[in-house]
Amino acid sequence: MTDPRRALPSVNTLLDSAAMRPLLERAPRALVADAVRDAVEHARRDPDRAPRDPASWRAAVDQALDQRERRSLRPVLNATGVVLHTNLGRAPLARAALDAIAMAAAGYSNLEYDLEHGARGSRYVHCVGLLQELTGAEDALVVNNGASAMVLALNTFADGADAIVSRGELVEIGGSFRVPDIMSKSGARLVEVGTTNRTHLEDYRRALGDGTGVGALVKVHRSNFAIEGFVAEVPVRALAPLAAAARVPVLHDLGSGLFLPLDAYGLAGEPVARDAVRDGATVVTMSGDKLLGGPQAGIALGTRDAVERMRKNPLTRALRVDKLTLAALEATLALYRDPARALEEIPALAMLTAPVARVRERAAVLSARLAGAGVVSTVVDTDASAGGGAFPTTRIPSAAVALGGDADGHEARLRAAGPGRVPVIGRIADGRLLLDLRSVPADADDALAAAVLAALA
Ligand SMILES: *Cc1c(COP(=O)(O)O)cnc(C)c1O
Repeated sequence: MTDPRRALPSVNTLLDSAAMRPLLERAPRALVADAVRDAVEHARRDPDRAPRDPASWRAAVDQALDQRERRSLRPVLNATGVVLHTNLGRAPLARAALDAIAMAAAGYSNLEYDLEHGARGSRYVHCVGLLQELTGAEDALVVNNGASAMVLALNTFADGADAIVSRGELVEIGGSFRVPDIMSKSGARLVEVGTTNRTHLEDYRRALGDGTGVGALVKVHRSNFAIEGFVAEVPVRALAPLAAAARVPVLHDLGSGLFLPLDAYGLAGEPVARDAVRDGATVVTMSGDKLLGGPQAGIALGTRDAVERMRKNPLTRALRVDKLTLAALEATLALYRDPARALEEIPALAMLTAPVARVRERAAVLSARLAGAGVVSTVVDTDASAGGGAFPTTRIPSAAVALGGDADGHEARLRAAGPGRVPVIGRIADGRLLLDLRSVPADADDALAAAVLAALA
């Protein structure tokens, strides 16, 4: 018997063959050569299905070329029902924020230039006025993400000193962010007080003493879980006077930056940034791309002295925010001046507060469109969620299109969209693949229908 691998053409022979000419017109020679190598290697590993003629070799190399040319970071449609899905990029941005990014990206800007005096300026002036106006904070600093804001605050006030924190707040936020690890990396000596379920003002008082050797009192919002039953925690309102008497700052890691109360939409229990500032923490830190609905950023709100000290910390340089982020954040914050406009134009808020009847209607339209192309589905009521470590126990009433048939097969086909197609990420429940419309922006319904039909019809 002859070894079928003997029959494989060499990479150079293939590359110079007429069949490859159209590919060489489309892509650089070195890339096509790599794709030819991929195709030959593939054929060597699976000789029974190796191409036998020039046309099938071209198809194989074409496919390998597509693989290599495909962007790593691609858009997807989020039909999971989790609005702020960290794995899917958290908050989609408002139109105004996208325009601001395009402006800042396309040309030069006054990022660190003082237009009034014609002199060097600071990137840390941008967004500050808006943050003061919207939250009542004396001063503000924007850095790279919520974790950086917390590290910077801890390092500024508690490097080599005690940082007192409740045992019930030594939490893991997800994606390898653990409060105790972050605290020790910032140079703070972790001093745990209380127990997992109960911590009292007296516990803090005892650890604080007269404040000697203590850098900060730290309060961490339990953003991604809730504890119930025999529990007690001390609110910042009560910690602030105690810490002030010992001249120790209170650092409050709020997690999600909610700028508008959403109680009227059934979303209650998450602290609003303005209220957190009023409660009296020295510094309040939060993310820009959770409930705020803006770009990835870390926002520190605090007293003038505290924020000035953070700004002067050399670590700020390493955690510095980029200009595209500042542009998007400023445009997003500006929308909050008119709350009705913020709810309408900031996609995360619009999706979280859309009436369930409207979501159900959109699901019905999608289901009917799929039926028209022979794809069987039903509309079902679901529970969506905010995600992004916010409102962890709140189920948001929603609706989904439940696809008939093999859930795992559908899931794989929708996820593996070919070139030029957008992957759709749903969730499987009770053996069915659900496409939850709560986390799909209303203006993406056509794209969702097209993507599902392309994958399944
Ligand atoms: C999300 C979160 C963080 C981390 O913020 P990133 O912007 O993801 O870096 C820190 N603390 C809390 C309480 C959070 O919920």
